[in-house]
Amino acid sequence: MLAVGAGAVAWSVVGRQDTSAAMGEVRASSAPSATASAPPAEDRLHAQVDAVLKVRASAVLAGKLPQFLATVDPRNKKLRQQQQVLFGNLRKIGLRKLTYEREPKWAPEPQPQHGPSAHAFRVQMMVQIAGIDPAPRAVQLGYTFVERGGRLLLVDDDDLNGSYGRGTYLEPWDLGAIEAIRKPGVLVVVPAGERANGERLAREARAAAPGVRAATRRAQAAILVIAMADRRSMDPEWQSGGHPAAAVAAYNLAPIAEDPRDMKVVGSRVVIHPDQRKKAGRLLLAHEFTHAAMAPLGFSAPTWLVEGLAMYAEMQLAEQRGYDVSEPRDELLDEAIPQLDVLPIDGVFHGEYDEDSYGVSWILVEFLMDKYGQKKVNALYADLAQAPEDPTLREQLLRKHLKLSETAFVAAVKKYDGPS
Ligand SMILES: [Zn+2]
Repeated sequence: MLAVGAGAVAWSVVGRQDTSAAMGEVRASSAPSATASAPPAEDRLHAQVDAVLKVRASAVLAGKLPQFLATVDPRNKKLRQQQQVLFGNLRKIGLRKLTYEREPKWAPEPQPQHGPSAHAFRVQMMVQIAGIDPAPRAVQLGYTFVERGGRLLLVDDDDLNGSYGRGTYLEPWDLGAIEAIRKPGVLVVVPAGERANGERLAREARAAAPGVRAATRRAQAAILVIAMADRRSMDPEWQSGGHPAAAVAAYNLAPIAEDPRDMKVVGSRVVIHPDQRKKAGRLLLAHEFTHAAMAPLGFSAPTWLVEGLAMYAEMQLAEQRGYDVSEPRDELLDEAIPQLDVLPIDGVFHGEYDEDSYGVSWILVEFLMDKYGQKKVNALYADLAQAPEDPTLREQLLRKHLKLSETAFVAAVKKYDGPS
């Protein structure tokens, strides 16, 4: 139950191409003929790769499977079958925008296992799900191409997996046939055959959303929820308290035009752990949706506030649904809160004190909401999310918004006995 900035930040993207639709078969012979200005072989190869990538993207957007498969090695039945599933998955998800952009500064890597001319290229897939993503999101790929019979063909799509810039999880559309369930404000992606669970999660997501809006006064307009059976849908580093997180709100990243090595957050998606996908309900989703709603404010808010606010939204929703939250609250007020010396520290938050860290953080935020109100809590959050992660600065911001030092804040929480 945490917010993650999924890596790949150092993947450089320079010189975005104009990827307006370019249809038709791509043949090596279509490269400029030998005139005085014939480009060197490498430039010609790059131009061919770019052309094949354009064909793939436009084929997906236009729903033209034969055109898509025309770029794939005709001898490799397994790859063709996988690519056909990928095509079908992307069509089911429904894309508003799709481009594949070769990383121009990266030297192609020879892949002799596919033949002497085979090279892997770094490719950035910029994908925007229709009605869900506010902007295209970057997905890092490695595509291996060979030139055969005058044509450039895709021969493999995982030769660069696990290498620099490529995440250690896979996108749901790369994990076999899927089903996509669309409801207002949510798209749930599940494995083929799990439609009923997808429908259930879509209902739970819709039940969670109003609570998140009420607790945060902000929310992502629409969100993707991924609930795959395949463990590769989760990054092994998405941990909480030494065990895999039940779900994560993962940032959607896109390159910043001015500095292609930097990425900015353009939204979030929620990934549910495979073991939790049939149990996860509105409370877990409310927690993750809160992270998604707050993500655009910045990365730097202290973990107690990030997790405390998500817990607060979750517990508010639980209470509205008739759960008695006074029991866990009283237990925390009796046992964990009296032992508090300082606010929970970021570095050990997800460590061995995991269970109490979340509960204590809930109490801290509930206290702030009760005594100071949502507006002040939100203003404090916004300032802390933008500030450098520095204890002195954080203390200054506490004083600015709450007129409290950290010590006075902790002392006041010890006197708290539940919402008024
Ligand atoms: Zn969390």
